Amino acid sequence: MNIIFSRSPNFKASKKVRNIEFLIIHYTGMKNFQSAVDRLKDLNSEVSSHYVISRSGRVLELVKPRDIAWHAGVSAWRGVKNINKNSVGIELENKGHDFGYQKFSKAQIRNLIILLKKLKKKFKIKNINIIGHSDVAPSRKIDPGEKFPWKLLSLQDVGIFHNLEEEILKHYRRKKIIGKASNTEIINLAKKIGYTFKNLSNKNFFYFTKAFQRRFRQNLISGYFDQECYLILRNLVKLHS
Ligand SMILES: [Zn+2]
Repeated sequence: MNIIFSRSPNFKASKKVRNIEFLIIHYTGMKNFQSAVDRLKDLNSEVSSHYVISRSGRVLELVKPRDIAWHAGVSAWRGVKNINKNSVGIELENKGHDFGYQKFSKAQIRNLIILLKKLKKKFKIKNINIIGHSDVAPSRKIDPGEKFPWKLLSLQDVGIFHNLEEEILKHYRRKKIIGKASNTEIINLAKKIGYTFKNLSNKNFFYFTKAFQRRFRQNLISGYFDQECYLILRNLVKLHS
């Protein structure tokens, strides 16, 4: 895989070696690749990412991983706030929910997996810390969205997924959790796989539920934490915390 360096001015140089713990996946949410790259390199936009991958699989490095790129904004994961300083951001070309959300292309995902493996090894990243923008900013962001192949990534040992059968799980869809697990109990489990909550308001719980579903129960994004979600969450905690 060929990585082409194409510098963005939007970064903060890190004086000392920074501690990279998280790999954050995004989509560009723009009509085409060139306009996305232009924006990530435009001084006035004040946004950037370390990498951007086109649908044809072209990989551009816009900011060196040793420097801080501006991709995550207000965010938190595993108790760490504003995680630009601790993360590498990867943008994937996709029109996004506003302009016609697309299935990610094979060439794009193939090269993403190669890049993730490389970064994981180099910075000793844990699988639990390979995540989406919506996981770290659930009230503001929905990228990379419910078409992103988290299961495939997990099978390639980058990122996490549950190991429950879809066929069995679907019987628990839309059902109320037996014994009514409280939101607090669910939140405590979610924290074990990295989700970080500013407060326990119902609104935040709703946004968390949607982010969780976009990631782990992609064919129904309802915002209602049903029995299927609960089984998935408990399985994830068992496997990965
Ligand atoms: Zn994003």
